[in-house]
Amino acid sequence: MSEYKPVTNEVIEALKAAVGSEYVLTEPEKLDAYKTDEETNPHYFHLPEAVVLPGSAEEVAAVVKLANQYKFPITVRSAGTSLAGGAIPVCGGIVLLLERLNKILEVNHDAMYMVVEAGALTKEIQEIANKEGLLYAGDPCSADSCLIGGNIATNAGGNKAVRYGTTRNQVYAVEVVTPTGDIVEMGARLQKKTTGYCLEQLLIGSEGTLGIITKATLKLQPLPPYRFDLLAIFTEVEKAIDIVPKVIKAGITPTSVEFMDNSFVRSTNDYCESRLPHYEDGNYVIITVETFSEDELDSKMEVLDTLCSENGAVEVLEADERVWKLRRSCQESVRIISLVSITDDLVVPLDKIAETIKFVMETGKKYPFKVMTLAHAGDGNLHFVLCKCELADEVWEKEVAKFHAEVYEYAYGIGGRLSGEHGIGVKKLEELETYTAPGELLVMKTIKKAMDPNNILNPGKLLKI
Ligand SMILES: Cc1cc2nc3c(=O)[nH]c(=O)nc-3n(C[C@H](O)[C@H](O)[C@H](O)COP(=O)(O)OP(=O)(O)OC[C@H]3O[C@@H](n4cnc5c(N)ncnc54)[C@H](O)[C@@H]3O)c2cc1C
Repeated sequence: MSEYKPVTNEVIEALKAAVGSEYVLTEPEKLDAYKTDEETNPHYFHLPEAVVLPGSAEEVAAVVKLANQYKFPITVRSAGTSLAGGAIPVCGGIVLLLERLNKILEVNHDAMYMVVEAGALTKEIQEIANKEGLLYAGDPCSADSCLIGGNIATNAGGNKAVRYGTTRNQVYAVEVVTPTGDIVEMGARLQKKTTGYCLEQLLIGSEGTLGIITKATLKLQPLPPYRFDLLAIFTEVEKAIDIVPKVIKAGITPTSVEFMDNSFVRSTNDYCESRLPHYEDGNYVIITVETFSEDELDSKMEVLDTLCSENGAVEVLEADERVWKLRRSCQESVRIISLVSITDDLVVPLDKIAETIKFVMETGKKYPFKVMTLAHAGDGNLHFVLCKCELADEVWEKEVAKFHAEVYEYAYGIGGRLSGEHGIGVKKLEELETYTAPGELLVMKTIKKAMDPNNILNPGKLLKI
């Protein structure tokens, strides 16, 4: 671990000179809001020594240069919705808040792209694209609150990734402040290029460890005018899960294929104070199909309806906004069951998603905590939530570690990885060391050390250095 110097009065004065006095926060009550993100376990909490709000890429660069000069770490924070502890300043130093960089700089309808500052709200980007009759296809369930810089830094997935891919597929170019304080444009508004290393893709998903994203050029898509959301309900979990690969193989190019087990069906209905069908015994599969012609939509829906009925769905309904509200409330609804919980994220090859969900559910039965599962099933991405409920701390920690080891061993055994979208953050540091092939880990560490020789950007995250 690197040695850092405290953020002294001299540093605070230099930061104030760089960004303006009102944009450097040091009052303890203000710092307290930045000791964690979505993480609820106090074990991970850490107070920053200051919070800095730059107003331009130049100011970000000036702050990074000061960090190298005075040797203090920087944790970049967008909206702090990270589920991996990514925005917690675990090594102290400063939290760099990008919320002032929130402008939509350009929307080009004809060429279908948009230029935005990193602090723009994801939901606003989606809405502005829609108003132009276009689609920004990044769609994490947290879109209401998260910022585009955070999405790019985590390569966020979400509900449309089956058809459009994750955030990395929505980005042409990024403006980045490097760990040594240079402002660099990476990528270009091109459909293809083989012109040196693909640096923008290296930055996407680097979780704030290789550079600070200050601006992005985003791809927009034609907005399909026809859409149907279908809710297939299965009382047998195996049947619900087994439908997923069949839907993918049916050639209907769904936009979303989401799975919620009955625990989530119950918790989200309770949370949203609703009672959708089969609250007691249903497992939900939500499938969205979008097309450019009505006939195409009709024929795809027929295929889907037959597929679901033949595979044992007890009901197949149109999924209205109430169903999507349940899906978006999954994370929050867990609090009804347990104040302390762990949300996990795994990705496996698409053809293994059904068996992985079964494995996680079966394995969960051996443990003293409750295991709830949901999945962006159409892209092989499984989330499971472990609920502590009334379990004693020591038992909880010991049993969670055993459960994780079983599940990660299994996932790696079938070609999976530790995270499909939430990232490694601080929470899976040890596991990345354990499960990543030594050669691959060495390349990652070599890149990090070359780009960030003083280990300034987001230390204690992603890689153990
Ligand atoms: C209810 C809920 C639902 C969610 N659903 C999804 C989902 O469907 N799909 C999904 O992928 N995730 C989901 N998440 C997780 C989270 O919303 C995503 O990881 C999101 O991309 C984080 O964005 P943020 O703006 O909150 O970033 P933050 O949490 O502030 O930061 C996340 C990480 O990115 C780094 N970072 C932030 N901004 C920058 C920047 N400009 N430059 C460099 N590094 C930066 C931070 O240092 C940190 O490591 C969900 C979270 C919640 C609470």
